Amino acid sequence: MAEQASMKPVRQTRPMRFADKRRHLVGVDIGGTKIETVLLGPDGSLLKSCRTAARQGNEAVLSDIMTSVRHVTRTLGKYDAFSVGIGIPGQVQPSTGMVRSAVNLGIDRLPLGPVLSHRLDGAVVHVENDVNAAALGAATLLPTECESTSVLINFGTGLAAGVVSDGRIEHGDTGICGEIGHIAVEPHMFPCSCGQHGCLETVASGGAVQRLWPDTDGPAMPELIAQAEHGNHKAQAVLDMVIDAQATAVTIVALCVDPGRILLGGGLLRTGEPMIRRLKTALGRRADGCAFLTAADLGGRITPVPTDQPIGAVGAALSARED
Ligand SMILES: [Zn+2]
Repeated sequence: MAEQASMKPVRQTRPMRFADKRRHLVGVDIGGTKIETVLLGPDGSLLKSCRTAARQGNEAVLSDIMTSVRHVTRTLGKYDAFSVGIGIPGQVQPSTGMVRSAVNLGIDRLPLGPVLSHRLDGAVVHVENDVNAAALGAATLLPTECESTSVLINFGTGLAAGVVSDGRIEHGDTGICGEIGHIAVEPHMFPCSCGQHGCLETVASGGAVQRLWPDTDGPAMPELIAQAEHGNHKAQAVLDMVIDAQATAVTIVALCVDPGRILLGGGLLRTGEPMIRRLKTALGRRADGCAFLTAADLGGRITPVPTDQPIGAVGAALSARED
């Protein structure tokens, strides 16, 4: 497996905020198709990164994580300590390291933190939900001077948000903080995997767009926009529905959390400016005649995250730092 991990150029070497002063940090971002791993130095600088294909099942996931961690730590000296942070989809309990219902990885239940720590000779292992880890990575890699709270909305296979306040992930009491994809806004519309109908995730997510516009060879969103621009009324109707649901997601986040910056990530963001422009237009339309929303300037808070940086893996690493 080590041979599958390909080293990529180090993209970022300056120290980041929230560095761990004592030890190296390894971050592993586990997606449905790939595992991205980084090594941060004690000053927070990005020293190494690698990527390998993801496999399914508890033992395969554990084995792939071990291989990736060993790959980025093999040049560390005998006395160089490191902690490991994992970002993984599904229901994650950071306090115990338990992962449940990571459906795309074939994981029903896995005590990932304890098992991995044991296999790594007692190393500190912290496990986070992948969107929360990405939110922390984005807030750190894209720092600004002004905001103390930022939110990442992830338009991926599903739809969820991660809230970061003063450099810390907000989990809430039971860990469901940010699960905005399962706010049912159209109770008579599409069924959702959660058991409700009309959840935002059934319209606003990348997975939803693939279902709503299925007859494409590649990503559906660029094709949907192209068809709408060529006068296809059905495409225009679907696109309007998707963008409106995304605007609802942004509005919910803004009015519940009031973040200084709303970061947008996930596979749908590869569509780029044509989608962002339409989303900002939809938000502007909602603010028409509403002094409250106009002053809140939701469109002005939106920042797409770069799709070529290991934001999830860096965030996972930073989630493992010790105070
Ligand atoms: Zn749902």
